[in-house]
Amino acid sequence: MKSFRVTDYYKSISINKPQLEKQFTPDIREKDVLSYEVGDPLNEEEHIVAPRLVHRYKDRVLLLVTDNCRLYCRHCFRRDFIDRGDNDITDKEIDAACLYIKNNIDVHEVLISGGDPLTLGYKRLSYLLHSLKSARDNLVIRIGTRVPIVDPDFIDNGMLDLFKSISPVWMALQVNHPDELTPRVKEVLNKLTFSGVTLLNQAVLLKGVNDNLETLKQLCQKLLEFRVKPYYIFQGDLAKGTSHLRVPISKGLKLMASLRDEVSGIAMPTYAVDIPGGGGKIPLNPDFIESEDDNFYYLKNSAGFIGKYPKE
Ligand SMILES: *Cc1c(COP(=O)(O)O)cnc(C)c1O
Ligand code: SF4
Repeated sequence: MKSFRVTDYYKSISINKPQLEKQFTPDIREKDVLSYEVGDPLNEEEHIVAPRLVHRYKDRVLLLVTDNCRLYCRHCFRRDFIDRGDNDITDKEIDAACLYIKNNIDVHEVLISGGDPLTLGYKRLSYLLHSLKSARDNLVIRIGTRVPIVDPDFIDNGMLDLFKSISPVWMALQVNHPDELTPRVKEVLNKLTFSGVTLLNQAVLLKGVNDNLETLKQLCQKLLEFRVKPYYIFQGDLAKGTSHLRVPISKGLKLMASLRDEVSGIAMPTYAVDIPGGGGKIPLNPDFIESEDDNFYYLKNSAGFIGKYPKE
């Protein structure tokens, strides 16, 4: 993805805020492609079972419905897929995905992603969601989107009514900095909540954006105020030309351990990474088990206090 795109709204809230500007402004360092950076860092192509449909984990599938977004994030791990001309999912492709889901009873959840699915607009989304529900009426729908954050006015009453008629809908947002949680965003998120949508957040740990304790603390606390559950904070994937935005895992682990001291349990996201080469997603946990012997685990808190818990 070489394209540059930002919305008037996001641009207006980014003035004099490098932590927001960085997310959409092309950087010369994107030309630095490291030997281990690749076009498809999650090896999604390997798990394609129908056009646009990725089936990696047993009980859930991922449907990439468009290569379009309202704002192109410089750190996007699908940056080679975004805006490459695949456009929006067709009726035929929707029908094929639904047939696969119908025939695979293990599939309990469908993640709708892209690109940004909400850019499809009300009409396409309506056909998509209703088709999925007719394929399996207890299918859990999860939509990954940044539209409410980067272009809140794009969410119209048609979409809200659609979500009201389809249940359950989970929505995974991507808020990376507390300054993205504006009063306008709050209004839209409230509307989504009142339309029966359950909101989650998947942040990306980004150098110069949110790689400090105070920012992460404010982000997680404010998300709760906006009725959004912090779900994941992702370690940057090894996408081409994104090394200047990545944070070392060692720093991420330290930040997560300190964050746990600062915020409540429901404000804590899971720090996670996709294992390069296609190993899937795993949590990265600060090590609270200091050591063990035949009889005990030695558990250590962030202040250095160690207590022993028996191996019963
Ligand atoms: C991340 C991902 C999922 C969802 O995983 P969760 O841990 O349930 O959020 C599903 N399919 C693919 C291919 C993914 O990359
Ligand atoms: S909204 Fe998502 S898919 Fe689109 S550019 Fe940003 S991270 Fe990538």
